[in-house]
Amino acid sequence: MKDEVITIKKFHEGLTNKVFSAREALAEFYKVIDTKDGEIGAYLSTDRDAAQTQAEEVDRLVEKGSPLPLLAGVPLAIKDNIMVKGQPCTAGANILKGYTAIYDAAVIKKLRGESALFLGKTNMDDSAMGSSTENSAFKVTKNPRDMTKVPGGSSGGSAAAVASGMAVAALGSDTGGSIRQPADFCGIVGLKPTYGAVSRYGLIPMASSFDQIGPLTNTVEDAAIMFRAIAGEDPHDATSASVTYGDELTDPNLEHMREMTIGLPKEYFIAGIHETIRANVEGAIAQFKGLKVRFKEISLPHTKHALSAYYIIMAAEASSNLARLEGIRYARVPQAEEAAHLMERYVKNRSHGFGTEVKRRIILGTFVLSSGHYDAYYAKAQKVRALIRRDFDEAFKDVDAILTPVSPTPPFTIGEKTNDPLTMYLSDIFTITANLAGLPALAMPPNFQLIGKPFHEADILGLGQYYERIRR
Ligand code: GLN
Repeated sequence: MKDEVITIKKFHEGLTNKVFSAREALAEFYKVIDTKDGEIGAYLSTDRDAAQTQAEEVDRLVEKGSPLPLLAGVPLAIKDNIMVKGQPCTAGANILKGYTAIYDAAVIKKLRGESALFLGKTNMDDSAMGSSTENSAFKVTKNPRDMTKVPGGSSGGSAAAVASGMAVAALGSDTGGSIRQPADFCGIVGLKPTYGAVSRYGLIPMASSFDQIGPLTNTVEDAAIMFRAIAGEDPHDATSASVTYGDELTDPNLEHMREMTIGLPKEYFIAGIHETIRANVEGAIAQFKGLKVRFKEISLPHTKHALSAYYIIMAAEASSNLARLEGIRYARVPQAEEAAHLMERYVKNRSHGFGTEVKRRIILGTFVLSSGHYDAYYAKAQKVRALIRRDFDEAFKDVDAILTPVSPTPPFTIGEKTNDPLTMYLSDIFTITANLAGLPALAMPPNFQLIGKPFHEADILGLGQYYERIRR
C-alpha cells in the first residue's frame, strides 16, 4: 500500500481479506509520518499507545470474524480543535497549550463506534482563524505538493496529512472555508456539511452559527463514507437537526445525476480569478456537460457583501466564544505566572495566549457588538446574511446544485500574505457564502465546489462521485 492512494474501501478490503492487520497498517502509517512529517509539519501530537490499543481491538474483531464496519481500523487525522479524550486539544492557540481533552467530541464517539483509529491531532491556524495555517502558535505546515507553498487553512494540517499519505482521511472544521480551501490547495476532497447536520459538541467553537465539522479525504466516495458516519442528531448540540441519511450518500444512483441541473452564479466568475483556476473550473464544467449534466446561469446578487457580513458576524461570535479562554480554567500561560493581581493575570494570559490575528478579531468583534455600533455593524450584517440566504433559496428553485471555484488563486507562497490580513481574507471570497447560508458544499479537484440545498448532501456527493468515477 505504499505509493498509491489508499481509499477507505481499499483499506477495508485489505483488512478483511487479511492482507494486513490493523496493527501493521498503523505501524506503516506512523512510519510514513516519521519519514515525512518533519518537513511537512501536519501533526501537532500523536498518541501512539492509544492508537495501538485501538488497533489491537480491531485485530481481535478480525480474528473473531465479526462483521467489520467500513471504518474499522482506518487511520484518521483529527484537527486540533476537536476533542479526543486524553489527547491534547489546543486549537492551534498558545492559550490552550498543555490542555488535555477530558471528553470525546460527538463525532469522535461516532467514529470510535465504527472502530476507526486516531493517529493524532493536526496543526491549524490559531483558534481556526486564517487561510494558510501560518497563524498556528506552534508551527508552519507545508503544502505536500510544493513545500514552498501554504497548505491553506485553517485545517491545513488535516489537508496536508491526507494529501501526503500520512492518514487515510481526516476531520476538519469549516466556519468560513476551512475545510474546503485547504482541501483545494492540497488537491484533495473536502465537505462542509449543512449547518446542523453534524454535532458541534466537543468542537472548540470559533463562530457558533457557522461552525461545522466535516471530512477531508482522497475521494468523494470517502467523504460520503465519513460524512455518513459522523452525521446525525445529538442532544448535546441544540442546533443539530433530526435528519437521517442513508445509502443515497455512499451508493448514489449515478443515472439520476443526468437529470440534475447545476447553476453557475455569474457573480463568482469574475475578473481577478487566477487563470489556472478559471481553466480548471471551465474544464470541469465541460466534463460535466460531456456527462449530460445541464447547466444554467444564475445570479446571487448579494455576493459582493458576503465577505463584509462574514467578517463582522464571525468576529462578533468569536469574540464572545473566546471570552471563556482566560488562561485559568483550561491551561496556563507561562508568561503570566508573575502577575500581581487577578486583572493583570487575565490581561497577560490573553495578551500572550492569543496571536495577532485572533486579537484583531476579538477587538473587532467587541467593537461591532458594542452599544452605539451594534445596529450599524452587527445588526446590519445579519440583514445582509438574510439576503444572501434568500439569494440561494431563489436560485435553488431552478437548480439542484451550484458550481463555483473554491479559491480565487492556487496555493500562495509561505510568508506571502502574512503581513496583509485583508488579502488573506480575500482567499475566502467563494467559500464563506455557504457558511453564511448554512448550506452543504463539496470541494473537489480540480478547484471547484458544489453547493447543495440544505440537507441535500446526497445531491452534491452524488454529482461528485459521478464526476469522479467517470473521470478515473
Ligand atoms: N479563512 C477563514 C477565516 O479566517 C477560515 C475560518 C474557518 O473556516 N475556520 O475566518
